Parts: sequence; structure tokens; C-alpha cells
Amino acid sequence: MAGEPQPDCLFCKIVSGDIPATIVRESATTVAFRDINPQAPTHVLVIPKAHYPDAASLAAAEPETAADVLREAGLVAADEKVTGSGYRIVLNTGSGAGQTVFHAHAHVLGGRGLQWPPG
Ligand code: C5P
Repeated sequence: MAGEPQPDCLFCKIVSGDIPATIVRESATTVAFRDINPQAPTHVLVIPKAHYPDAASLAAAEPETAADVLREAGLVAADEKVTGSGYRIVLNTGSGAGQTVFHAHAHVLGGRGLQWPPG
């Protein structure tokens, strides 16, 4: 069924607690944890607890959960005190765009200058 945990999904295992992560926020529908390979002083991933392969498929199936992910991303930025200097929310979608984990996630990056275009 859509949104159900997938046995081979790394982020589903973080949601269930089977794989450890440094969790910084949790809501009824989302978990936020520090990226294991940070690309900026603040690098936190916000994921839905439900399994969808990318942000667009999450938004199509559960728009309220997609909104929760964005709301939590903003709260992470506030917790990390990067709202003043600016931060970036990144939704890599597809392997050609750098997506490596096919469970929807938003990167929250901040705490350093961020270039545009991102490359
Ligand atoms: O957008 P993309 O799919 O590449 O992002 C996946 C992210 O998940 C990477 O930044 C990677 O460092 C992170 N990751 C993690 N903990 C793991 C495995 C991957 O934070 N156990």
C-alpha cells in the first residue's frame, strides 16, 4: 500500500529505530536528523515517516504530510539559528540530480555561504 514502510529502505529503518540517527526534531508525520556526511555546518534531513520515493510523489499522495516536511524544515532552520543568514531546502529528485536514497527527504543546509546555481 502507498506510504507503507519498505523492508530495504534505509530511511524507513531510521523511522523505525532499526538504524541509529541523530534526531533533532520529530512530529507525528516527520523525523529530522543530522546528515551523516554534512555538506554545511547545518545539514539536517527532514523525512516523512511514510515511505514515498521522492518529494513529488509524497506531495501527490499526501499533500498535508509534504507541507509538514516543509514546516519542519523551517523549524529546523530556526532551531539551528540559520534563518538570519539564509539557508537552503533541497529536494534532489532522481539519480541524475544526485538523489541516492529513494525515500522522500528535504535537506536543510545553512551556516555557510551557498552558491547559485548549485551545480
Ligand atoms: O539527496 P540524496 O538522496 O543524495 O541524500 C541522501 C542523504 O542521506 C545524503 O546526504 C547522505 O549523506 C545521507 N545519509 C544519512 N544517513 C545515512 C545514509 C545516508 O544521513 N545512514
